[in-house]
Amino acid sequence: MSLPVRTFDAVIVGAGGAGMRAALQLAEAGLKVAVLSKVFPTRSHTVAAQGGIGASLGNMAEDNWHYHFFDTVKGSDWLGDQDAIEYLCREAPKVVYELEHFGMPFDRNADGTIYQRPFGGHSSNYGEKPVPRACAAADRTGHALLHTLYQRNVRANTQFFVEWMALDLIRDEEGDVVGVTALEMETGDVMILHAKTVMFATGGAGRIFAASTNAFINTGDGLGMAARAGIPLEDMEFWQFHPTGVAGAGVLITEGVRGEGGILRNVNGERFMERYAPTLKDLAPRDFVSRSMDQEIKEGRGVNGDHVLLDLTHLDPEKIIKKLPSIREIALKFANVDCLKEPIPVVPTIHYQMGGIPTNIHGQVVAPKNGNPNEVINGLYAVGECSCVSVHGANRLGTNSLLDLVVFGRAAGNHVVDFHKKNPVLKPLPKNAADFTLARLNRLESRTSGEQTQDVGLSLRKTMQAHCGVFRNQKLLEEGVTKVMEIAERVNHIAIKDKSKVFNTARVEALEMENLIEVAKATIVSAEARKESRGAHAREDFADSAAHPNGRNDEEWMKHTLWYSEGNRLEYKPVNMKPLTVDSIPPKTRSF
Ligand SMILES: Cc1cc2nc3c(=O)[nH]c(=O)nc-3n(C[C@H](O)[C@H](O)[C@H](O)COP(=O)(O)OP(=O)(O)OC[C@H]3O[C@@H](n4cnc5c(N)ncnc54)[C@H](O)[C@@H]3O)c2cc1C
Repeated sequence: MSLPVRTFDAVIVGAGGAGMRAALQLAEAGLKVAVLSKVFPTRSHTVAAQGGIGASLGNMAEDNWHYHFFDTVKGSDWLGDQDAIEYLCREAPKVVYELEHFGMPFDRNADGTIYQRPFGGHSSNYGEKPVPRACAAADRTGHALLHTLYQRNVRANTQFFVEWMALDLIRDEEGDVVGVTALEMETGDVMILHAKTVMFATGGAGRIFAASTNAFINTGDGLGMAARAGIPLEDMEFWQFHPTGVAGAGVLITEGVRGEGGILRNVNGERFMERYAPTLKDLAPRDFVSRSMDQEIKEGRGVNGDHVLLDLTHLDPEKIIKKLPSIREIALKFANVDCLKEPIPVVPTIHYQMGGIPTNIHGQVVAPKNGNPNEVINGLYAVGECSCVSVHGANRLGTNSLLDLVVFGRAAGNHVVDFHKKNPVLKPLPKNAADFTLARLNRLESRTSGEQTQDVGLSLRKTMQAHCGVFRNQKLLEEGVTKVMEIAERVNHIAIKDKSKVFNTARVEALEMENLIEVAKATIVSAEARKESRGAHAREDFADSAAHPNGRNDEEWMKHTLWYSEGNRLEYKPVNMKPLTVDSIPPKTRSF
């Protein structure tokens, strides 16, 4: 059986900040671009970003991109590629001013410049003290950014396919990417979108964990599609726990709260971060703060044994109402506390994946081939949280993700425009273009009994939470691998009772599960194999020692993990320690 085909110059899967920034570049260059999204574009997870976008504008204190570069390399625990990090930090002021000129409603200082607040791990003069670098629109920065980009795209005639779910990549005999298959949720119809380039901008996959700040649609579809098409996933063991999810609810309280002066306290009212990070205190990077909180709870200084407190009661109420209005609302709705008068109960909560689909700084997807660890896969791009450039390495600094979206969304967009100029001819679809997807769908449709998606999902989330949390060890991870592989087997037996076509969310969720499981396998297999602690990957069995401060082992492990779905196997590739124009920042022990 074949499928109907529609042809475009370029297809972008994902209408979050990354997808829409790239789309704008293409549409303005006159390309015929289709942007697919499972939800209306402005409901993508980017809309939930609160705290800010990082750029060394220096509006409120002395700052420059070299400091930002240093902080990002150090924050990444030396797993980030220094060429990509240099590019990110140098481009930052440009892309933020560009957003300003697009009409993004940033908060303002009295002199009219963009308001900036301090954020975790961002410092002046190479770690001396926190610096205000996060450009913010109150605590709704992602909202402002996404709406600005959407409006610019409407103006540029970008074609949106709303409530469409991409299912699989189409690669031809040479391995080049020539399109995707996709499901229109409204009708249940499946179609081939044939194009010269496909770009994944599908966001994160935080839904493999039980307690997550992520939206329900963050199911790692781009990663699943890449893995099924034989493309490796990079550094998937590195997942960021945000220190301040509302205890019991998971909803995020931005780090901007600590940027504005909020303080973490244990059950004794002690500001415990002073002990762990004497210089940056509550504004140390997230991996550091999350581990410190977990330690306090483990050592019996948590509240009710399971959380700590985020105290804002000493701040000027006017400031909270003006700069953090959504935080006050979230605390009221999800924790039943008025943060003007009482502290907010918080706990480290899964937030962000540092790993993803490997790319270069043009957003081109790369994979090892013939001895080259970074051979370009023609026609395929990835940007945003689903990609791994890698600028975040083993731990991302807050505000660097929104920045990543616009810097690399723009860079990838420019590269695609160039690709189209150089490759005027659309490669034909292979004869079997639809086969893989149709076989997947037929298996799901033909099963009349089997596992329920929600049961399998629950087992997966519980397993990942218990076996791949803030602190890990060999035993936990080995058991985790066994359990996740058992769950993967169950995924193969999912059956849906409702076979109707129109808006069948049961089918969509079952298909999402096939992506979530790829992400979970990549995560736990990569984590079990990495025998050191680095950034967010903290192993109790590889703790601080004289030979390996903080448990980090650069001799053996300063390298990127690559996980392949086929054979569940791992490879490694070197970290790029060479920036583009400046001197490399040599590895040091991290302290704050
Ligand atoms: C609560 C919260 C607060 C945050 N705050 C900040 C912050 O202050 N600063 C910062 O720098 N970072 C922050 N982050 C991180 C940052 O917001 C995200 O990393 C970033 O927004 C991801 O953007 P994206 O464009 O990659 O993906 P998303 O915005 O997640 O968009 C993904 C898109 O892909 C589409 N999609 C997915 N799968 C498919 C498919 N199969 N078919 C079709 N479409 C598909 C979705 O519909 C969506 O349009 C925050 C994250 C969260 C969760």
